[in-house]
Amino acid sequence: MSLRDGWSFETLHADYAQALKVETLLYDSETEHQRLRVFENNRFGRVLTLDGVVQTTEGDNFIYHEMLTHVPILAHGAARRVLIVGGGDGGMAREVLRHADVAHVTMVEIDAGVVEFSKQYLPGLSQGAFDDPRLELVIADGADYMRSARESFDVIIIDSTDPVGPGEVLFTDSFYGHARERLAEGGILVTQNGVPFLQPDELTNTLRAFKALFRDWGCYLASVPSYAGGPMAFGWATDGEARRTPVDVLRRRYEAAGLACDYYTPEVHRAAFALPGYVRKLLPRG
Ligand code: SAM
Repeated sequence: MSLRDGWSFETLHADYAQALKVETLLYDSETEHQRLRVFENNRFGRVLTLDGVVQTTEGDNFIYHEMLTHVPILAHGAARRVLIVGGGDGGMAREVLRHADVAHVTMVEIDAGVVEFSKQYLPGLSQGAFDDPRLELVIADGADYMRSARESFDVIIIDSTDPVGPGEVLFTDSFYGHARERLAEGGILVTQNGVPFLQPDELTNTLRAFKALFRDWGCYLASVPSYAGGPMAFGWATDGEARRTPVDVLRRRYEAAGLACDYYTPEVHRAAFALPGYVRKLLPRG
């Protein structure tokens, strides 16, 4: 990403860029792994970028974090142990920890700098999640952790950067194979899988791996304004039946959890799995 004439240009794609006005540049530094920036934008609030790519914003992170947590957790219905890979800003942990029945959250983040920095500059994202006694923060490469861990999880959430730089290893067949081994019976794996209109191969590659590994695989969608290019895809994989959970059961679980979301509803949950033609065409065949 380049800062030019008071704008931040995100150049994740070779031929498409989005620009956000930088009202105030609050932080700009290299960590051991990536370039960390946060700036104020009048429409999105504080914006976090890593290696120039928008990671999350105060204004619209609720959509992404609600859909990558409450969909698998409410579909599962009895999640007690959750694993988050990535998620250094704390927003994913915030939403998972809203579920009082979740007893333990392991968060494996490669860059301690993102965590420390987010606590200081983006406290509105984690909202105290890092202080929750149920959260265990592990600073490590998620691929190394998944390969060597022995714990089982009911829900695994891959909240990584895009498959460039440190995030690349989190989009491989071997990583997904190790993730499957870490799932308890009926467990669900969900992944941040980019914007299919601009990153079609990313989705197809992940789902090809899921198809080979899991009985039920697919994706669901949500539009996140700061992830430019149309709806974002979330990979879904499980050997269980959770995808078929009826809306009335989701509604009962949603209300029992005392959630009051700004994007997620049980109806949106089910509708998110209805895929438009151009996304269906990206699903691996055969
Ligand atoms: N919402 C964002 C998105 O959709 O791109 C993701 C946000 S979160 C900040 C992404 C996190 O993944 C970052 O904190 C980054 O340090 C972490 N990360 C990248 N590669 C990783 C790896 N191999 N293991 C663990 N964490 C990783």
